[in-house]
Amino acid sequence: MKLVERSEWKARGPRGVTRLSSTKGVKVHYTGGRVDPALATDHGRCDDAVRGVQNGHMDGNGWADIGYSMVVCPHGYVFMGRGPLVLPSANGAGLNSGHYAVLGLVGASGLTRPSDAMLNGIVDAVEYLRDKGNAGREIKGHRDGYATACPGDALYAWVRRGAPRPVTNWTERLVNELPEIRAGMTHTHVKTVRALLHARGFPPADLFSHTYAQNDEDLRGRINAFKKANGLAQDGIFGQKCWETALA
Ligand SMILES: [Zn+2]
Ligand SMILES: [Zn+2]
Repeated sequence: MKLVERSEWKARGPRGVTRLSSTKGVKVHYTGGRVDPALATDHGRCDDAVRGVQNGHMDGNGWADIGYSMVVCPHGYVFMGRGPLVLPSANGAGLNSGHYAVLGLVGASGLTRPSDAMLNGIVDAVEYLRDKGNAGREIKGHRDGYATACPGDALYAWVRRGAPRPVTNWTERLVNELPEIRAGMTHTHVKTVRALLHARGFPPADLFSHTYAQNDEDLRGRINAFKKANGLAQDGIFGQKCWETALA
């Protein structure tokens, strides 16, 4: 677990601490407001965001501390909130001794979809609270037993599925990031295509060029031969299906 201690995110000290010895489990939350989408690509902003939540809870709500037991950023870091064996205050009156409260740093607008790293981080936080805080097996959403949209539809659907760790399909992820290679373009992955065609038995004459020229009949012919062998339309384009097939 990528734990960020309170001293590391420069948390304010709590005005008071109420202990508890165990809970039935954990409730998952989102911020309810807008989360800046820039957060998704800049972990440097995350401690600022967590401090903002704490300030809102202490100064706005008048709570003793940030209301959550732990906070998970889009990069999967787990920020220590009130922590294990301490009563949270984010679940709603009467519901705080039942469950720890874990915030996923997504909101109702802006950044709304939890990343795989965030989902893994939430599971890390749940396991930590079970280990250090005697949390029971339940994983619920804030809306369970309380009138709120929290934790938002995306996180709630995941909670209802049992909060599984995301399955990483490396080929699928890689293919989603690879460009469609077509005649007339220069791209570093034109060279990748040449190497893959070579590896798959359709070697181009030039293995090293980054350019797929409009009149490059050699490369077009190799791509089409590869596509024909794999039941794909021979249009001279090396797209997603080709990447999937060549990398499988
Ligand atoms: Zn909530
Ligand atoms: Zn982050």
